[in-house]
Amino acid sequence: MEIQYVLINFFLLALLIVLFCRKFILKLFRSRRERICRELDEVEQIENALIPEITEPSFEEIPSSNNGVAEEKAIAKEKILQIEAFGQRECHEIHRIMIEKTKECFFDIMQNKVAEIFASEPYFSKMRAKESALIDEILGMIKLTPGDMAYLKHHDVLYVTLTSAHKLSEDIVSRVDRATTELLNSVGGKTSLWVKEDSELIGGLRLRIGDTVYDGTVSEALYHFKKGIKRDTIDTDDAAKEVLEEFYEKAKNFIAKISVYQLGRVMQISDGICWMDGLADIMYGEVIEFECGERGMVLDIQPDRIGCVIFGEYEHIESGSRVRRVGRIASVPVGEALLGRVVDAVGNPIDGEGHLSVKDRRPIECNAPAILDRAPVKRPMHTGIKAIDALVPIGRGQRELIIGDRQTGKTAIAVDTIINQNGKNTICIYVAIGQKETTVAEIKEKLQKYGAMDYTVIVAANASGSAATQYIAPFAGTAMAEYFMYSGRDVLIVYDDLSKHAVAYRELSLLLHRPSGREAYPGDIFYLHSRLLERSACLSEELGGGSITALPIIETLAGDISAYIPTNVISITDGQIFLESELFNEGQRPAINVGLSVSRVGGSAQTKLMKQMAASLRTNLAQYRELADFTQLGTDIDESTKRTLNAGARLMEALKQNRYHPLEDWQQALLLFAVSEGYAETVPLENMDDFENGLFEYFKAFYMPVVEKLKSGAKADDVLLTEMREALKVFQERL
Ligand code: ATP
Ligand code: MG
Repeated sequence: MEIQYVLINFFLLALLIVLFCRKFILKLFRSRRERICRELDEVEQIENALIPEITEPSFEEIPSSNNGVAEEKAIAKEKILQIEAFGQRECHEIHRIMIEKTKECFFDIMQNKVAEIFASEPYFSKMRAKESALIDEILGMIKLTPGDMAYLKHHDVLYVTLTSAHKLSEDIVSRVDRATTELLNSVGGKTSLWVKEDSELIGGLRLRIGDTVYDGTVSEALYHFKKGIKRDTIDTDDAAKEVLEEFYEKAKNFIAKISVYQLGRVMQISDGICWMDGLADIMYGEVIEFECGERGMVLDIQPDRIGCVIFGEYEHIESGSRVRRVGRIASVPVGEALLGRVVDAVGNPIDGEGHLSVKDRRPIECNAPAILDRAPVKRPMHTGIKAIDALVPIGRGQRELIIGDRQTGKTAIAVDTIINQNGKNTICIYVAIGQKETTVAEIKEKLQKYGAMDYTVIVAANASGSAATQYIAPFAGTAMAEYFMYSGRDVLIVYDDLSKHAVAYRELSLLLHRPSGREAYPGDIFYLHSRLLERSACLSEELGGGSITALPIIETLAGDISAYIPTNVISITDGQIFLESELFNEGQRPAINVGLSVSRVGGSAQTKLMKQMAASLRTNLAQYRELADFTQLGTDIDESTKRTLNAGARLMEALKQNRYHPLEDWQQALLLFAVSEGYAETVPLENMDDFENGLFEYFKAFYMPVVEKLKSGAKADDVLLTEMREALKVFQERL
């Protein structure tokens, strides 16, 4: 019974709880639902307010009464124009790439078509009828080269090979045998004639004597045609059609042109270095071509083999394959079209901004201008950096080394100097050797931002590339610079950096089995850098008066300037800017060590005004450094020492300069004058930046005649000095 009561009580209690709580729970949920609904409504309202009505943008409709709106309108308009231009450029580029790709197929189609044409009548008979005349022409040309003569000294037989696409008549073979035997008998040698058939020649004849080939075959004509279309820009469908039509016309009226070249054979290939035999008369620095189309440059000539470096991919080159002498020294494209572009060490654009249409080329190795062709360094090359223009001035045609440990601001100085050439009619070439691609891209972006890319070429041989390309990059850059110099322009070239260049050359030399010397560098590393830097010069008036100013960069290890490569380049250049990690870390940027930096010829290029203003700067700074070192230990300092220290600290502070803030010559002179005359004595060190900026603004606003006089660069006379002092006094009072 009791259990029944308990159960009834329990159910009653449960019923009561449900009755009371139901209302409460319903209320709770209703309020929550209402809140959520309200929030949803609000969000919807905000969203509706944010979505504008989509209409065609019309710039003219936007009211231009408000200045901000007008500005934004102009920016938007410019952006749309930029996007349109980009789109057009991209479309053109894609089209061009497609045509470039079809060029490859072109060749296969042409080869098959030509084989077809020459297998059919009347072309087959016509071509065979010409064989006799062709061999006469070849036999009229044959002669022994110095290489053949050298070969005959050690072996009395010279091998002769006659190759044709079809079986030759007895008469032709005997004529060749007779002529070559006669030729060799005249120098006391013998011949061994081998007659071959090779259907790949398609038609015509090829005679090889020693390493020299006299080629009058159809396949040779095709090879030249292919090179022609590779070189030419075919960027429209019409141009492609024209090329094809021209080709068929030529094929049908085929007249064999005999080309003479030398052949060799790949013996061994590894690590981007190739050893070959044959090519008896090849010269140092000559370009050679492998069967797969890759090219290389001869760097080593030994009695029994020739060593070369390969510029591109070498995976497709097989030992035993043929190598052909191209017949010219390695060269790069040069010309105005290079400005604003990033190219690799052989002059191919790598910035994705399309084809480079340049006709002129210059050899990468070239003699430096003779002494009589040079003029003294007299004109300044302003870097826009106070510490350099005042203390280590650089002249046009000078070679000034930038040397320092890693991350001390070496590249920053070079880039600032390039930026400072804006509007100074100077071409700049920045050669990046062994740098990261991102670093180069960053430099390009900065140069673009400051409008310096318009007159700059970047030659990049990145760290990911081969040692061969890093080795030739500075020579390629110099060749491009020479083009401008010999056309009377001023050029600034930066080699960033030559330590990596030396390492690349060491790698190549060790792979070429050359004996190594100090620090494992080859013995000719000094000659390598001196022949590179000697090419920078200021030409005489008769030669147009152009110049190349070189800023080579060298990275030291722990400030050791007595290592092999630093001492070499220090002795080659006309001075050095020495950057110190300690100064850099102290916040003295640019971290130029004034004591160790020197410019041997730049003094005569400095403007008279700057010379006057910076005359006592070096001694004052030296005095300050000495005193600062000395007084570090003691606290008891007399008044005059305190004054010297105070003035020195302000001078050091004045020499600090941010990146991308080049100053004009008059600004630098004015600031140095103001600081060295003590007008900044009362300015707290941390406010020196404001003092500097205020000074320029103040003079520009109130003393324009003084600024004009300073701009002329002439030595300041007493009148000007008094004017400046008076103005500075007023400025000091206003501080
Ligand atoms: P690396 O050895 O890697 O080539 P580097 O010696 O060329 O280095 P930079 O890359 O030019 O040195 O500069 C190193 C760093 O110092 C950079 O981050 C740069 O922004 C900074 N820097 C250089 N010069 C200045 C300057 N005048 N003011 C402020 N920062 C600077
Ligand atoms: Mg650098």
